Amino acid sequence: MTTPPAGAQTGPATRIAPGLAGAPEDVDLVVIGLGITGAGVALDAVTRGLSVLAVDAHDLAFGTSRWSSKMVHGGLRYLAQGQVGVARESAVERGILMEVTAPHLTRPMPMLVPLNSSVSRVQERLTHAGLLAGDGLRRSAGTDEETLPRPRRLTATEALAMAPPLRSAGLRGGLLSWDGRVEDDARLVSNVARTAASYGAHVRTRARVLTATGTAVELRDELTGETRSVTARAVVNAAGVWAGDLVEEVALRPSRGTHLVLRQDTLPGLSVSVFAPIPGSTSRFVLVLPQPDGTVYVGLTDEAADGPIPDVPQPTDPEIGFLLDVVSAAFERQLRRDDVVGAFAGLRPLLDTSGPDDARDPADPTGRGGTADLSRRHAVLPSRTGVVTVVGGKLTTYRQMAEDAVDAAVSAGGLDGEPCRTRTLPLLGAAPRPVLAALEQPARLVRRFGTDAELVLATAREVTGLADEELLAPIAAAVPVTLAELVFGVTHEGAADVDDLLDRRTRVGLVPADRPLAVPAAERALALARGQEGSAVRGR
Ligand SMILES: Cc1cc2nc3c(=O)[nH]c(=O)nc-3n(C[C@H](O)[C@H](O)[C@H](O)COP(=O)(O)OP(=O)(O)OC[C@H]3O[C@@H](n4cnc5c(N)ncnc54)[C@H](O)[C@@H]3O)c2cc1C
Repeated sequence: MTTPPAGAQTGPATRIAPGLAGAPEDVDLVVIGLGITGAGVALDAVTRGLSVLAVDAHDLAFGTSRWSSKMVHGGLRYLAQGQVGVARESAVERGILMEVTAPHLTRPMPMLVPLNSSVSRVQERLTHAGLLAGDGLRRSAGTDEETLPRPRRLTATEALAMAPPLRSAGLRGGLLSWDGRVEDDARLVSNVARTAASYGAHVRTRARVLTATGTAVELRDELTGETRSVTARAVVNAAGVWAGDLVEEVALRPSRGTHLVLRQDTLPGLSVSVFAPIPGSTSRFVLVLPQPDGTVYVGLTDEAADGPIPDVPQPTDPEIGFLLDVVSAAFERQLRRDDVVGAFAGLRPLLDTSGPDDARDPADPTGRGGTADLSRRHAVLPSRTGVVTVVGGKLTTYRQMAEDAVDAAVSAGGLDGEPCRTRTLPLLGAAPRPVLAALEQPARLVRRFGTDAELVLATAREVTGLADEELLAPIAAAVPVTLAELVFGVTHEGAADVDDLLDRRTRVGLVPADRPLAVPAAERALALARGQEGSAVRGR
């Protein structure tokens, strides 16, 4: 079992739990929303010595944070737009995630741009120059070449060896570069939230904020319907695309991004991500992203999503058709609708810069910037009532977003916090890559929990009394999830029902046909964990 991090507390009170029973009624900081941003804010604040209550109306990673492309971006796109500061921030945060805070949940991701007839020689040179500039960003951010190797040009033979399903006719080579990827975006959120809880933050799901000011929130326990007030010195609104529901000055204009899910055998042998050029565009690509669980994601779109904000956004038929068409042009096989085993969409919380002056992005006070730029640039917006809203940004830059938001909250609330520590603070389970590689636990658990793989297994053994063979077997054909991790989801990660387990602690739900196969195991994990509530295996 791993040692708790220095400063971390252990014991039941530090764990993540559904509902508000026993939650404090007065804290230094209330955090609204437990996507990656809110979880990051909770961790940043609690490790500065502040008392924290962090809540989500639904569950950890219920919103946009589970619908991402799962990439840890180096900021190349912003460099191309001349936004050097934003690009550098992304590259620096990528390096921190991959080398310090979360090596266990991140991997280097090889990316291949196939050079086929839709890519002119001029485009090839421009793309290659861009990749080299991206490598310059990596170096300036201090990220090791061992972590992210340098880009290079491949011959057609080399490109086909890495991506055998590519269309070979007209293929003259490929451009290979490296970026980061996260094992699973929702797992990163759970890990950040659990780390915050391990330092003493009160992390509650099923707790909806009904109203907020800078010094109080009105909450509803979604399990019991009971409402209560909590007072605070500062309140951070990290409700993502819903942030404007709580603070009227925050006006958002969401944009939908859709991905398809394919089985890996639809594009057999694909060992790299492929950036398929969108015909007619010089700089836009459709991404084909192999996942560690036997699926491949294809994405993504960028469609204005006006009107009421749904809890779970849905992909549209035209988006699915567009993605299939672009990928079919780059690969030998013509993809059909029945190759699509799942599809998911997320909403980017873009600031509406045409709103009142005080709702504008401080980095763009004129409000004339394009929404595509704003989508990944974050903004920290104090409101008239004192609530500090943090929106925009991306998964990759959550730590910097959290640092900026807590700085603003400390100043707004006159709080006496220590300096930010998260730049050098490993998440639970993190360790240098050679240490992770030497671990003897099952590879899947190491990939998803790092050095805590042993804690996951020890917990499952103790709670269930079952043998490892049963705890570590895939819970169904084509579903590599194990009973051990489902049990841990309940005992240590606040999972309260089957949906939490299958849609957020694991991602079985991304393939609807697999989900019913996994439901019995999820129900069993809940029953086993609940039957052992007095167990000694607690804490962390
Ligand atoms: C399609 C797509 C792909 C992307 N791909 C990438 C990528 O590959 N890499 C990358 O770095 N970034 C990516 N991003 C960006 C990234 O996913 C988002 O910036 C990030 O997830 C936003 O997180 P958040 O915590 O701010 O919001 P959310 O994850 O939406 O969290 C907000 C939370 O607030 C809760 N909430 C709302 N209202 C209340 C309330 N009243 N009370 C309590 N809780 C409430 C919600 O339930 C939700 O859980 C992508 C975005 C999209 C849309």
